[in-house]
Amino acid sequence: MINIKINKNLEMNEKSFLMIAGPCAVESKEQVMEVAKKLKEMGVNVLRGGAFKPRTCPDSFQGLGEEGLKLLVKAREETGMAIVTEVMDTENLSLVEEYSDIIQIGSRNCQNFSLLKEVGKYDKPVLLKRGFGNTISELIGSSKYISQSGNNRVILVERGIRTFETATRFTLDVSAVPLLHEKTEFPVIIDPSHPAGVSRYVEPLAMAGTAAGADGLIIEVHPNPKEALSDSSQQLTIPEYNHLYEKIKRIAPIIDKYVI
Ligand code: PEP
Ligand code: MN
Repeated sequence: MINIKINKNLEMNEKSFLMIAGPCAVESKEQVMEVAKKLKEMGVNVLRGGAFKPRTCPDSFQGLGEEGLKLLVKAREETGMAIVTEVMDTENLSLVEEYSDIIQIGSRNCQNFSLLKEVGKYDKPVLLKRGFGNTISELIGSSKYISQSGNNRVILVERGIRTFETATRFTLDVSAVPLLHEKTEFPVIIDPSHPAGVSRYVEPLAMAGTAAGADGLIIEVHPNPKEALSDSSQQLTIPEYNHLYEKIKRIAPIIDKYVI
């Protein structure tokens, strides 16, 4: 696995386990500050939060845009956390890049090759989410679009795929973890929030991903999930996340990462 430097204090490597947490979307100053401070107190070093949101329905909350990016920067200034946020198109790429420490490419853009090539020209780590209709080899192809454009700092994310099962929002493909470790040099993290779809399945999926040898977790946490403007039913409360975090802290250090 290649080492990925995120900022001067933070690096992903064979021994590290990266915890990324925060709301699905940045909604207000109060919301993002509250969650960031509590997460930092727990020991979480990377804050997630979408300012540009890919929504199935155009009537749904689309994110705060640049104002949301500015709120994330305020949270970084207050807490020292690194920030990761999604870019949806080449049009907003330089804007998102300017504010973030890690650029997120969402599931729906996993095969947006022009966006992948553009993001590959920047000197920032990229969190590349697997498309929910993409095979593992397609995800690897997408990662190469970024690395061959000059940016080798790619973090792969398994976030669930579409199967015939509808009882969960998506099906978490745990086998992606050892397979990707075998076939690529990039770290692999698990997003248990989006496949779960509801908060009570998030912890067991996080445990499964960790046991499979993931290099980290990205999890949605909201100070008041019931009021969330997106992905309300899958976001964890701060105490729920704390419970999960304590369990992960106990198991992550004893799991081999199955690097072949
Ligand atoms: C998200 O992280 O909030 C998100 C939209 O994820 P995905 O692209 O995996 O659906
Ligand atoms: Mn979400």
